[in-house]
Amino acid sequence: MRDMHVHTEFSCDSDAKMEDYIEKAKASGIGTICFTDHVDLNTNDYGYNYYSADRFWERFNEIKYNADMLIEPLAGIEFGEPHLYEKNLKELTKYPYDFVIGSIHWIGDMFPCQKVREQYSAKEFYTLYWKEVLKTVQTGGFDALGHIDFPKRYYGEIYYEEAVINEIFRNLLEKDLVIEINTSSLRKGHAQTMPGKELLEIYKANGGKYVTIGSDAHVVEDIGADYETAKSMLEEVGLQEVIYRQRKRQII
Ligand SMILES: [Zn+2]
Ligand SMILES: [Zn+2]
Repeated sequence: MRDMHVHTEFSCDSDAKMEDYIEKAKASGIGTICFTDHVDLNTNDYGYNYYSADRFWERFNEIKYNADMLIEPLAGIEFGEPHLYEKNLKELTKYPYDFVIGSIHWIGDMFPCQKVREQYSAKEFYTLYWKEVLKTVQTGGFDALGHIDFPKRYYGEIYYEEAVINEIFRNLLEKDLVIEINTSSLRKGHAQTMPGKELLEIYKANGGKYVTIGSDAHVVEDIGADYETAKSMLEEVGLQEVIYRQRKRQII
């Protein structure tokens, strides 16, 4: 088992320690764990400017040095809205990260919180959201697009036009990016992972081959959560699980 999306105390919304994840991973039979803390540069975000690469790397290097053969810790980031902060991303990735997730959490000053959900129908919000996703995959500079249908976690439903999704996947594949299967929505009581099978099938139809699997854990107990569900779904669709080391895709 592998978990390519895990948050630690270096994210503003987690207190979890790397060493505790490592212990839990070992006990759960997880061989590879990638720490992907939030890097948020939108001033509306609680985590604005919270991340410190120096602090992360200091701790990560200690963890890596002390890790035994059973476990492979990888260094990553979850970078918010990469198309808006290209220079910052370039600067940050001078550090030797293994894996960079690019995620859209914000549309300007809008997050799909309750207030926004009262103002915008799912269709209205998703229409704005997909525009941002398209811009970000056209810009690239990261490895995997995070939780492609993110508003689902808040709206509980998905809206899309297939032509728009096709355009997103075409651009994403041109930039040699992949998508992740993010299982955190299952823990919030939703029926589907992000994305669910439907979008994975459209990804495949557009020539997509590879996906990473991540729990998006913010607490130690959630590492590897619903890995089997994600794995069996990607096998059903005919996709291949990958991880990244030193920003290079590795087929499992
Ligand atoms: Zn995220
Ligand atoms: Zn995350």
